[in-house]
Amino acid sequence: MRLLLVEDENDIQGFLKQALTEAGYQVDVAPDGKSAEALAPAHSYDILIVDLGLPDQDGISLILRLRQMGVQAPVLILSARRSVDDRVRGLEQGGDDYLTKPFAMAELLARLRNLLRRNAPVSTEATRLRVMDLELDLLRREATRSGQALQLTPQEFVLLEYLCRNAGRVVTRSMILEKVWGMRIQPDTNVVDVHIYRLRGKVDGHGQPPLIRTLRGVGYVVKDR
Ligand code: CA
Repeated sequence: MRLLLVEDENDIQGFLKQALTEAGYQVDVAPDGKSAEALAPAHSYDILIVDLGLPDQDGISLILRLRQMGVQAPVLILSARRSVDDRVRGLEQGGDDYLTKPFAMAELLARLRNLLRRNAPVSTEATRLRVMDLELDLLRREATRSGQALQLTPQEFVLLEYLCRNAGRVVTRSMILEKVWGMRIQPDTNVVDVHIYRLRGKVDGHGQPPLIRTLRGVGYVVKDR
C-alpha cells in the first residue's frame, strides 16, 4: 500500500513514517502543500494523510486542489482542531475521515484500514449495491433487507443509495441536500431529518441491528460492519 503523508512537524513526521513503514505501508512524505501537489497526482497513492495546519496553505484547500487534479485516493485528515465545524468542513471538502491530535497509533492504523477497505468496490456487479444484509437493485430501483422487500418512495431510494455508496463514512446534512435534493445552500428545512426518520423506520424497523446512525451535529453514516 502506497501512502502519502502530508505533515510539517518533524517529530510527528518521523514518528508516523516509522510506524507506518513498520505497519507495511510504503510511505512518501510531503512537508508542505506544494510538495504534496507535486507528488500526489504523479503517483498512484492508495491513501493520503493530510495535516490541516501546513506552513504554506490550509490542508483543506490542499485537499480541494488535489481532488480537482483528479486525485481520488481516500484522505484521512489529521488536525489539532477539535470543533464540530472543522470536522464538518473537512469532510465536506473531500476528506474521508478525521482524526484529532493527539491520537493513538492503533487508532490511526485502524482508520486507515477502514478507509482502504471502504474504498474497495462495494458492489458485486455495477447494478447492485450491498451493505451488510441490505441490498439495492439499482436498475429495478428495489431494496431488500435480509431478503425482505422494502417499500421505499423514489426519493427514499435515492437517499438510501447515496448513504450506501458512502457506507462507513459520514455524510452531512448539506452533502445530502446537495446530492439528493440538488440544493446548494442549506435552507431552513428539516427535509433531510424527516426523510432519514422515515427511511430508518423502513430499513431498521424490523428488529435487525440498526444500519443508519446519526452523529449528532455532524450527519449520518450507514454502518458497514
Ligand atoms: Ca502542522
